[in-house]
Amino acid sequence: MKKLFAVLGDPIGHSMSPIMHNDLFSFYQIDAHYLPFQVNGANLHDAVKGLKAIGAAGFNVTVPHKSKIIPLLDGVDELAASIGAVNTVVNEGGKLIGYNTDGPGFLKGLQAYGSSAAGQKILVVGAGGAARAIYFTLAKENPIAVDIANRTLATASELINDCPYGNFSKALTLDVAGINLAEYDLIIQTTTIGMSPNTAEQPLNLNNLSQQSMVCDIIYNPLETQFLHDARIKGARIQNGIDMFVYQGALAFEKWTGIFPDVERMRENVLQQLGGKKKTC
Ligand code: NAP
Repeated sequence: MKKLFAVLGDPIGHSMSPIMHNDLFSFYQIDAHYLPFQVNGANLHDAVKGLKAIGAAGFNVTVPHKSKIIPLLDGVDELAASIGAVNTVVNEGGKLIGYNTDGPGFLKGLQAYGSSAAGQKILVVGAGGAARAIYFTLAKENPIAVDIANRTLATASELINDCPYGNFSKALTLDVAGINLAEYDLIIQTTTIGMSPNTAEQPLNLNNLSQQSMVCDIIYNPLETQFLHDARIKGARIQNGIDMFVYQGALAFEKWTGIFPDVERMRENVLQQLGGKKKTC
Protein backbone atom coordinates (compact mmCIF):
# COMPACT_ATOMS: atom_id res chain seq x y z
CA MET A 1 0.00 0.00 0.00
CA LYS A 2 1.22 3.50 -0.84
CA LYS A 3 2.71 5.22 2.21
CA LEU A 4 1.57 8.70 3.17
CA PHE A 5 3.91 11.50 4.28
CA ALA A 6 2.90 15.11 4.91
CA VAL A 7 3.89 18.55 6.08
CA LEU A 8 1.66 20.54 8.44
CA GLY A 9 1.98 24.33 8.63
CA ASP A 10 0.14 27.62 8.31
CA PRO A 11 0.77 29.00 5.72
CA ILE A 12 2.06 26.03 3.72
CA GLY A 13 1.69 26.99 0.03
CA HIS A 14 5.33 28.18 -0.16
CA SER A 15 6.80 24.90 1.14
CA MET A 16 9.43 23.32 -1.12
CA SER A 17 9.33 20.04 0.85
CA PRO A 18 6.57 18.26 -1.15
CA ILE A 19 8.38 18.53 -4.51
CA MET A 20 11.74 17.69 -2.87
CA HIS A 21 10.48 14.57 -1.05
CA ASN A 22 8.22 13.32 -3.86
CA ASP A 23 11.19 13.49 -6.22
CA LEU A 24 13.21 11.37 -3.75
CA PHE A 25 10.43 8.79 -3.34
CA SER A 26 10.27 8.45 -7.11
CA PHE A 27 14.09 8.37 -7.50
CA TYR A 28 14.47 5.60 -4.87
CA GLN A 29 11.36 3.76 -6.19
CA ILE A 30 9.53 4.00 -2.87
CA ASP A 31 5.76 3.73 -3.18
CA ALA A 32 4.92 6.84 -1.16
CA HIS A 33 3.45 10.30 -1.53
CA TYR A 34 4.14 13.52 0.42
CA LEU A 35 1.36 16.12 0.72
CA PRO A 36 1.17 19.64 2.18
CA PHE A 37 -1.68 20.40 4.59
CA GLN A 38 -2.55 23.89 5.79
CA VAL A 39 -3.59 23.38 9.41
CA ASN A 40 -4.28 26.19 11.86
CA GLY A 41 -3.54 25.99 15.58
CA ALA A 42 -7.13 25.15 16.52
CA ASN A 43 -7.10 22.10 14.22
CA LEU A 44 -3.61 20.80 14.97
CA HIS A 45 -4.77 18.22 17.53
CA ASP A 46 -7.38 16.77 15.14
CA ALA A 47 -4.92 16.78 12.23
CA VAL A 48 -2.32 14.79 14.20
CA LYS A 49 -4.97 12.38 15.49
CA GLY A 50 -6.22 11.90 11.91
CA LEU A 51 -2.74 11.23 10.50
CA LYS A 52 -2.17 8.66 13.24
CA ALA A 53 -5.57 7.02 12.67
CA ILE A 54 -5.00 6.59 8.93
CA GLY A 55 -1.48 5.23 9.51
CA ALA A 56 0.58 8.03 7.93
CA ALA A 57 4.21 6.87 7.88
CA GLY A 58 5.60 10.24 8.93
CA PHE A 59 5.34 13.98 8.54
CA ASN A 60 7.11 17.30 8.84
CA VAL A 61 5.92 20.14 11.03
CA THR A 62 6.66 23.73 10.20
CA VAL A 63 5.85 27.26 11.41
CA PRO A 64 3.89 27.87 13.63
CA HIS A 65 3.44 24.35 15.06
CA LYS A 66 6.99 23.15 15.88
CA SER A 67 6.51 23.57 19.67
CA LYS A 68 2.76 23.06 19.97
CA ILE A 69 2.99 19.60 18.38
CA ILE A 70 5.07 18.16 21.25
CA PRO A 71 2.26 17.32 23.71
CA LEU A 72 0.30 15.70 20.84
CA LEU A 73 3.00 13.09 20.15
CA ASP A 74 3.68 9.73 21.83
CA GLY A 75 7.35 10.54 22.38
CA VAL A 76 10.09 13.04 21.53
CA ASP A 77 13.83 12.38 21.25
CA GLU A 78 16.27 14.04 23.66
CA LEU A 79 17.55 16.82 21.36
CA ALA A 80 14.08 17.83 20.17
CA ALA A 81 12.80 17.79 23.76
CA SER A 82 15.62 20.06 24.96
CA ILE A 83 15.14 22.45 22.00
CA GLY A 84 11.40 22.35 22.60
CA ALA A 85 10.63 22.00 18.89
CA VAL A 86 9.91 19.12 16.50
CA ASN A 87 10.12 19.36 12.70
CA THR A 88 10.01 15.63 11.84
CA VAL A 89 7.62 12.93 13.07
CA VAL A 90 8.07 9.21 12.44
CA ASN A 91 5.32 6.63 12.88
CA GLU A 92 7.21 3.94 14.78
CA GLY A 93 4.86 0.95 15.03
CA GLY A 94 1.78 3.09 15.60
CA LYS A 95 3.51 5.58 17.93
CA LEU A 96 4.27 9.10 16.68
CA ILE A 97 7.83 10.04 17.70
CA GLY A 98 9.16 13.59 17.20
CA TYR A 99 12.66 14.66 16.15
CA ASN A 100 14.39 17.91 15.30
CA THR A 101 16.54 17.78 12.16
CA ASP A 102 16.93 21.59 11.78
CA GLY A 103 20.00 21.92 14.04
CA PRO A 104 21.64 18.67 12.87
CA GLY A 105 20.81 19.71 9.28
CA PHE A 106 22.68 22.98 9.78
CA LEU A 107 25.65 21.10 11.27
CA LYS A 108 25.78 18.57 8.42
CA GLY A 109 25.69 21.41 5.88
CA LEU A 110 28.57 23.08 7.70
CA GLN A 111 30.58 19.86 7.70
CA ALA A 112 29.89 19.43 3.99
CA TYR A 113 31.76 22.74 3.54
CA GLY A 114 34.76 21.26 5.38
CA SER A 115 33.98 23.28 8.49
CA SER A 116 32.87 22.25 11.98
CA ALA A 117 31.91 23.64 15.38
CA ALA A 118 34.60 21.86 17.42
CA GLY A 119 37.27 24.22 18.75
CA GLN A 120 35.56 27.24 17.15
CA LYS A 121 34.46 30.51 18.69
CA ILE A 122 30.96 30.95 17.28
CA LEU A 123 28.51 33.85 17.12
CA VAL A 124 24.83 33.14 16.50
CA VAL A 125 22.92 36.26 15.40
CA GLY A 126 19.27 35.93 16.45
CA ALA A 127 17.55 33.93 19.19
CA GLY A 128 14.35 32.66 17.54
CA GLY A 129 13.28 29.09 16.78
CA ALA A 130 15.97 28.35 14.20
CA ALA A 131 18.72 29.85 16.39
CA ARG A 132 17.56 27.66 19.24
CA ALA A 133 17.86 24.46 17.18
CA ILE A 134 21.29 25.49 15.87
CA TYR A 135 22.58 26.64 19.28
CA PHE A 136 21.58 23.44 21.10
CA THR A 137 23.12 21.30 18.35
CA LEU A 138 26.42 23.23 18.15
CA ALA A 139 26.75 23.40 21.95
CA LYS A 140 27.18 19.58 21.95
CA GLU A 141 30.08 19.74 19.45
CA ASN A 142 32.80 21.04 21.82
CA PRO A 143 33.05 24.63 20.56
CA ILE A 144 35.16 27.16 22.52
CA ALA A 145 32.02 29.30 22.90
CA VAL A 146 28.72 29.99 21.17
CA ASP A 147 27.72 33.59 21.92
CA ILE A 148 24.28 34.85 20.94
CA ALA A 149 23.50 38.37 19.74
CA ASN A 150 19.88 39.42 19.54
CA ARG A 151 17.75 42.56 19.29
CA THR A 152 15.96 41.43 22.47
CA LEU A 153 18.80 40.63 24.86
CA ALA A 154 16.55 38.81 27.34
CA THR A 155 15.60 36.22 24.69
CA ALA A 156 19.29 35.48 24.03
CA SER A 157 19.94 35.07 27.80
CA GLU A 158 16.91 32.80 28.12
CA LEU A 159 18.15 30.60 25.27
CA ILE A 160 21.58 30.25 26.90
CA ASN A 161 20.05 29.42 30.30
CA ASP A 162 17.75 26.80 28.76
CA CYS A 163 20.60 24.87 27.11
CA PRO A 164 21.64 21.74 29.03
CA TYR A 165 24.84 21.18 27.02
CA GLY A 166 27.31 23.57 28.69
CA ASN A 167 27.14 27.16 29.77
CA PHE A 168 30.06 28.82 28.03
CA SER A 169 28.16 31.50 26.15
CA LYS A 170 27.45 35.21 26.43
CA ALA A 171 24.30 37.08 25.41
CA LEU A 172 25.18 40.24 23.46
CA THR A 173 23.44 43.17 21.90
CA LEU A 174 23.77 43.44 18.11
CA ASP A 175 25.98 46.54 18.57
CA VAL A 176 28.43 44.80 20.93
CA ALA A 177 28.57 41.77 18.65
CA GLY A 178 29.44 44.06 15.73
CA ILE A 179 32.30 45.63 17.70
CA ASN A 180 33.71 42.21 18.73
CA LEU A 181 33.18 40.51 15.37
CA ALA A 182 36.86 39.78 14.68
CA GLU A 183 36.90 37.35 17.66
CA TYR A 184 34.67 34.82 15.92
CA ASP A 185 35.71 31.94 13.65
CA LEU A 186 32.12 31.22 12.63
CA ILE A 187 29.20 33.68 12.42
CA ILE A 188 25.68 32.36 11.81
CA GLN A 189 22.91 34.81 10.85
CA THR A 190 19.52 33.36 11.88
CA THR A 191 17.21 36.40 12.04
CA THR A 192 14.57 37.13 9.43
CA ILE A 193 16.44 40.31 8.43
CA GLY A 194 17.42 40.42 4.77
CA MET A 195 14.81 37.90 3.71
CA SER A 196 12.85 38.69 0.53
CA PRO A 197 11.26 41.22 -0.03
CA ASN A 198 13.36 43.28 2.48
CA THR A 199 16.62 42.34 0.84
CA ALA A 200 18.51 45.59 1.56
CA GLU A 201 18.39 45.09 5.34
CA GLN A 202 21.01 43.41 7.47
CA PRO A 203 21.24 42.81 11.24
CA LEU A 204 24.72 44.08 12.07
CA ASN A 205 27.68 45.98 10.79
CA LEU A 206 30.44 43.80 9.28
CA ASN A 207 33.23 46.43 9.39
CA ASN A 208 35.16 44.42 11.99
CA LEU A 209 34.77 41.05 10.28
CA SER A 210 37.97 39.03 9.92
CA GLN A 211 38.57 37.52 6.48
CA GLN A 212 39.54 34.29 8.27
CA SER A 213 35.93 33.89 9.48
CA MET A 214 33.26 31.76 7.92
CA VAL A 215 29.87 33.48 7.65
CA CYS A 216 26.57 31.61 7.24
CA ASP A 217 23.11 33.01 6.67
CA ILE A 218 20.29 30.47 7.04
CA ILE A 219 18.06 32.53 4.74
CA TYR A 220 17.87 31.06 1.20
CA ASN A 221 15.61 33.63 -0.44
CA PRO A 222 17.57 35.54 -1.69
CA LEU A 223 20.44 33.09 -2.13
CA GLU A 224 22.89 35.83 -1.23
CA THR A 225 21.57 38.21 1.43
CA GLN A 226 23.07 41.65 1.94
CA PHE A 227 24.81 40.16 5.01
CA LEU A 228 26.47 37.43 2.92
CA HIS A 229 27.27 39.87 0.14
CA ASP A 230 29.12 42.17 2.55
CA ALA A 231 30.91 39.21 4.18
CA ARG A 232 32.05 37.96 0.77
CA ILE A 233 33.34 41.41 -0.17
CA LYS A 234 35.31 41.46 3.11
CA GLY A 235 36.98 38.20 2.03
CA ALA A 236 35.21 35.75 4.36
CA ARG A 237 33.99 32.31 3.29
CA ILE A 238 30.20 32.32 3.00
CA GLN A 239 27.36 29.79 3.02
CA ASN A 240 23.65 30.39 2.44
CA GLY A 241 20.61 28.59 3.91
CA ILE A 242 20.15 26.06 1.12
CA ASP A 243 22.45 23.56 2.81
CA MET A 244 20.57 23.67 6.12
CA PHE A 245 17.26 23.23 4.29
CA VAL A 246 18.47 20.35 2.15
CA TYR A 247 20.23 18.52 5.00
CA GLN A 248 17.29 18.85 7.41
CA GLY A 249 15.18 17.25 4.66
CA ALA A 250 17.79 14.56 4.01
CA LEU A 251 17.89 13.64 7.71
CA ALA A 252 14.07 13.46 7.84
CA PHE A 253 14.04 11.26 4.70
CA GLU A 254 16.64 8.98 6.31
CA LYS A 255 14.51 8.65 9.47
CA TRP A 256 11.48 7.67 7.37
CA THR A 257 13.16 5.31 4.88
CA GLY A 258 16.60 4.32 6.22
CA ILE A 259 18.16 5.89 3.08
CA PHE A 260 20.40 8.95 3.31
CA PRO A 261 19.47 10.58 -0.01
CA ASP A 262 21.48 12.29 -2.73
CA VAL A 263 21.80 15.85 -1.36
CA GLU A 264 23.10 17.24 -4.66
CA ARG A 265 19.90 16.09 -6.34
CA MET A 266 17.90 17.74 -3.55
CA ARG A 267 19.89 20.97 -3.85
CA GLU A 268 19.28 21.17 -7.62
CA ASN A 269 15.59 20.52 -7.04
CA VAL A 270 15.34 23.31 -4.44
CA LEU A 271 17.31 25.75 -6.61
CA GLN A 272 14.91 25.02 -9.47
CA GLN A 273 11.94 25.75 -7.22
CA LEU A 274 13.58 29.02 -6.23
CA GLY A 275 13.61 30.07 -9.85
CA GLY A 276 16.33 28.11 -11.57
CA LYS A 277 19.06 30.18 -9.97
CA LYS A 278 22.53 28.68 -9.80
CA LYS A 279 24.27 28.01 -6.50
CA THR A 280 26.12 31.18 -5.50
CA CYS A 281 27.66 30.17 -2.21
P1 NAP B 1 11.69 33.52 14.64
O1 NAP B 1 11.56 32.43 15.65
O2 NAP B 1 10.53 34.41 14.39
O3 NAP B 1 12.96 34.46 15.10
C1 NAP B 1 13.20 35.67 14.46
C2 NAP B 1 14.53 36.27 14.93
O4 NAP B 1 14.78 37.43 14.13
C3 NAP B 1 14.55 36.73 16.39
O5 NAP B 1 15.85 36.60 16.90
C4 NAP B 1 14.17 38.21 16.24
O6 NAP B 1 14.65 39.04 17.31
C5 NAP B 1 14.92 38.58 14.97
N1 NAP B 1 14.34 39.73 14.31
C6 NAP B 1 13.17 39.78 13.61
N2 NAP B 1 12.98 41.04 13.13
C7 NAP B 1 14.03 41.79 13.56
C8 NAP B 1 14.41 43.14 13.39
N3 NAP B 1 13.67 44.00 12.66
N4 NAP B 1 15.57 43.57 13.95
C9 NAP B 1 16.35 42.71 14.66
N5 NAP B 1 16.04 41.41 14.86
C10 NAP B 1 14.90 40.95 14.31
O7 NAP B 1 12.11 32.95 13.23
P2 NAP B 1 12.85 31.55 12.90
O8 NAP B 1 11.84 30.49 12.74
O9 NAP B 1 13.97 31.37 13.86
O10 NAP B 1 13.41 31.85 11.42
C11 NAP B 1 14.42 32.82 11.22
C12 NAP B 1 14.92 32.80 9.77
O11 NAP B 1 15.53 31.54 9.51
C13 NAP B 1 13.81 32.96 8.73
O12 NAP B 1 14.34 33.80 7.71
C14 NAP B 1 13.62 31.55 8.18
O13 NAP B 1 13.18 31.54 6.83
C15 NAP B 1 15.03 31.01 8.29
N6 NAP B 1 15.05 29.53 8.42
C16 NAP B 1 15.80 28.83 7.53
C17 NAP B 1 15.85 27.44 7.63
C18 NAP B 1 16.66 26.66 6.64
O14 NAP B 1 16.44 25.44 6.55
N7 NAP B 1 17.59 27.26 5.92
C19 NAP B 1 15.16 26.78 8.66
C20 NAP B 1 14.44 27.55 9.58
C21 NAP B 1 14.39 28.93 9.45
P3 NAP B 1 13.76 39.32 18.62
O15 NAP B 1 13.96 38.15 19.55
O16 NAP B 1 14.32 40.59 19.14
O17 NAP B 1 12.33 39.45 18.14
